[in-house]
Amino acid sequence: PTDVNAMADEYLRLAYHGIRAKDKSFNADFKAILDESIPMIQLITQDFGRVLLNLINNAFYAVKDMQGKGQVIVRTKKLTDSIEIRVSDNGTGIPEHIKAKIFQPFFTTKPTGQGTGLGLSLTYDIVTKSHNGSIEVETKEREGTMFIIKLPYL
Ligand code: ADP
Ligand code: MG
Repeated sequence: PTDVNAMADEYLRLAYHGIRAKDKSFNADFKAILDESIPMIQLITQDFGRVLLNLINNAFYAVKDMQGKGQVIVRTKKLTDSIEIRVSDNGTGIPEHIKAKIFQPFFTTKPTGQGTGLGLSLTYDIVTKSHNGSIEVETKEREGTMFIIKLPYL
């Protein structure tokens, strides 16, 4: 069984410090809002770690030009038969015509070398196929993006 709260907290820090190590001028606020009542759940820890890292790295990328006014939040919440994990940012948002493509393999809007376009397609497969969960996105251009994952208790 995995402690999703501990993972969320750890990957948020890991991602932030990873970006800062490459780019000293990068600055953003981040926080984890954790529901301490969520149970430990059975999951493929390494794969779910990649999911978190993908979503969090995308979120930080979306706020990179905000001169420190960017914020990334990871939130956990206990639902009736699942736990919910939300990764949100107040960054660029995703334009409507792009939203339909973001889960496709190799789709990226990042410059060559900065994105493979595989993060969200892998994320989708790990969440839905390997963990029987769901993933949704809510986004508004220039306001931000929130990915919502639900993982059922097994
Ligand atoms: P990559 O990060 O390599 O581009 P992903 O599959 O992780 O590939 O994401 C695909 C695309 O979805 C990104 O290039 C970007 O256009 C969009 N996207 C994903 N997350 C966000 C986000 N939090 N804010 C804005 N756009 C996003
Ligand atoms: Mg990515």
